[in-house]
Amino acid sequence: MAKHQFQTEIGQLLQLMTHSLYSNKEIFIRELISNASDALDKFNYIRLTDEAFKEEEWTGKISIVIDKDDGSITIGDNGIGMSEEDLMSHLGTIAKSGTKSFVENLTGDAKKDSHLIGQFGVGFYSVFMVAQRVDVITKKAGDTQAYKFVSDGTGEFDITPVTKESHGTVVYIKLKDDEKEYLSRWRIQEVVKKYSNHIAYPIMLTYTEEETTGEGDAKETKSVEKIDQINAATALWTLSKSDIKNEEYVEFYKTISHDSDEPLDYLHHKVEGANEFTTLFYIPRNAPMDLYRVDYQSGVKLYVKRVFITDEDKELLPSYLRFVRGIIDSEDLPLNISREILQENRILANIKQNSVKKILSSIKKLDDEKFEIFTAQYNKVIKEGIFQDHTNKETLLEIVRYKTTKAEGMTSLEEYLKRAGERAGETQKEIYYIIGEDAALLGRSPLLEAYRKADIEVLIMDDKEIDEIVTPSIGNYKEWQFKDVTMTDAPDTITEEEKKEISKAHETLTGKIKEILGDEVKEVKTTTRLTDSPSCVVKDSSDPMASMAYMFRQMGQKVPETPLILEINPEHEMIKKLEVLGDDALFDDMAWILLDSAKLAEGLEPKDRVLFVSRVTKVAGKAL
Ligand code: ADP
Repeated sequence: MAKHQFQTEIGQLLQLMTHSLYSNKEIFIRELISNASDALDKFNYIRLTDEAFKEEEWTGKISIVIDKDDGSITIGDNGIGMSEEDLMSHLGTIAKSGTKSFVENLTGDAKKDSHLIGQFGVGFYSVFMVAQRVDVITKKAGDTQAYKFVSDGTGEFDITPVTKESHGTVVYIKLKDDEKEYLSRWRIQEVVKKYSNHIAYPIMLTYTEEETTGEGDAKETKSVEKIDQINAATALWTLSKSDIKNEEYVEFYKTISHDSDEPLDYLHHKVEGANEFTTLFYIPRNAPMDLYRVDYQSGVKLYVKRVFITDEDKELLPSYLRFVRGIIDSEDLPLNISREILQENRILANIKQNSVKKILSSIKKLDDEKFEIFTAQYNKVIKEGIFQDHTNKETLLEIVRYKTTKAEGMTSLEEYLKRAGERAGETQKEIYYIIGEDAALLGRSPLLEAYRKADIEVLIMDDKEIDEIVTPSIGNYKEWQFKDVTMTDAPDTITEEEKKEISKAHETLTGKIKEILGDEVKEVKTTTRLTDSPSCVVKDSSDPMASMAYMFRQMGQKVPETPLILEINPEHEMIKKLEVLGDDALFDDMAWILLDSAKLAEGLEPKDRVLFVSRVTKVAGKAL
C-alpha cells in the first residue's frame, strides 16, 4: 500500500468541505454524476476514433447502488476510467489554476470563505461532506491494471493495485452516521431528478425492498433487489425549448459548470438549414475564477450528433467570450473529426460566427438589473472584444460601458451621444476620453477644466492597461471620433490669432521655464484650457510615438515614453506672480513644482519625489 499526502491546497479544501461550509450537501451526487457522465463522454469519443476500441459492445450507463446494511452508496460508470497517475494528479492535486487560486484566496475565516465557496465548483471533494471514507476503484480503458484510491478526507490517501473486470470507475461512499438519509431510495431519486435528469446516459438505481408474499401462516417477508432507471436520460439541449422548465436549464448549467449559483442568462437555439446545429449557452452570474489567467479553461463542450468531442477547444468561441459556458452540438461535422483540424473547419467557423451573434444579442437584451451585473463582471473582456472582433465591433461598442463626468455609474456610448447631441445641437462629433488608473483622480484632472467650462462630457476610463490599448484602436463610433483629452487641444472660444498673441505676451516666461526644465519637457507653452490650476501636462499629439503606443503594447513591447508638454495658465495668480519674480532663486523651484505637481495630478511620478517635497516645503516656508 502506498500512502500519499494530498497537496496542501487540497488539505485546506477538504477541511472546508468536512466542516461543511456548504449548506447544500446533496449536491455531491450531482458532482459525482457529472464526473461519471464526462468519463462516459470521453470513452464514447475514443470508441469512435480509436481502432482498439471499435469492436467493443458498449452502452454507457451510470449506476447507483444503495447498501442499507453497510451504510454506503456506490456510484459507478463504465467510462474512460483512471490510471494510477490520473488518480494521483486528478484526485491528489489541484490541476486547475482557477481552483488553485480559489483555495489561495481562502482566508480561514468561515464567514468570508463561505461566500467564496458559493462561486466555486466543488467537484469530487464535495463527497467528503457526507462520507467518512471514500474508495475510488478504477481502471483506465486499454490498461490491464486497476487501482483503488482510499481517503477519509484528511491529509492522506492510499493507492493500491486491485482487480477490476472492465474499464470505468466506481466510487464507494461510506456515509457519516448523520448522513444516512442518502440510504433512502426516494431521497436519491429526488436529488437525481432535480440535478441530473437530463444527463445523456441512463442512471440506474439498485435498492432493496421488503416484499411480502402469501397469506396467514404462509406469509413471508423478504428483501428483494430492484433496479430502476431514475432519470430521463435525454440530453437537455436536444429537447424543444417549450418542454424545458427554467429549473431544468438552471440545474443543467450547474452540472456542466460546477457553479453553485444560478446563471445570469441562458440561450438555447436550434438552427436548421444548410448547417444544422444546436447551441445552449450560459452566462455565469459571477465571472469564472480563471477569467484573467492565460491558462483559463474553455467552458464550451463540442458534440457531434450527441457524441462528445472535446471540452478543451478554446477556439469554439472567440477568447473574449471565454466566460460563456455551454454546449455546441453539430449535425454536420464528421464524427471522427480530429480535434487538431477543427480550427480549419468551415462548418465550425460558421457555427462560431452564428453563436457569437446570438450571445451578443442576448447580452444586449438583458434587463437593467442584469446588465449592471454583466458590466461589473465582464466589461473588461468586452473591451478585449472591441479590439479583437472587427465583425462585431459595432455591437460590442453598444454593450461596453464607461464612467463619465456627466452621470453617476456607468454610461453607454449611445447615452453619451444623446447627451452631447442635445447640448451641442449635433455640432459635436467627438467622444472625449481620459485614461488612467484612478477614476476619482481622473475626474479632478486639470485637463478637464476647460471641458467642464464648455459643458463637454468626458469619458473616464480607469481600466488603464486595457483602455490604453483598446481605445485608440476604436477610431469611430457612428461617425463620432474618439479623442484623448491629453492629446488634443482643449475646446476653445478664442481664435488662433488671439492664442498667438497670448503666447507671444508670455514668451519670456515660457522660455525661462523651458531652460530650467531642459529635456524633461518637450515644450513649455501657454494654454487657455485651465481655469483653477496653474499648469498641466499633455502628450504631444504630433509625436508619431504617441499614436503608435498601443501597437507597441499589443506586441508586448515596452512603450517608448511620449514626450510631455508643460502648459501654463497665464490667468492664474501664481503664474502672474512668477512673471514678475525676476531672477529669484525661488523661480527654479517654482518651475519644477509646476511640472511635478501637474504630473502628480495625472497620476504620473515627479522626476524626484524627495526633491519635489523639499521644494514645496521651501516655497511654503517663504510664503508664511
Ligand atoms: P472536475 O470534474 O471539475 O474536473 P473533480 O475534482 O470533480 O473536478 O475531478 C477531477 C478529475 O478527476 C476530473 O477532471 C477527471 O479527470 C477525474 N475524474 C473524476 N471522476 C472521474 C470518473 N468517474 N471517471 C474518470 N475520471 C474521473
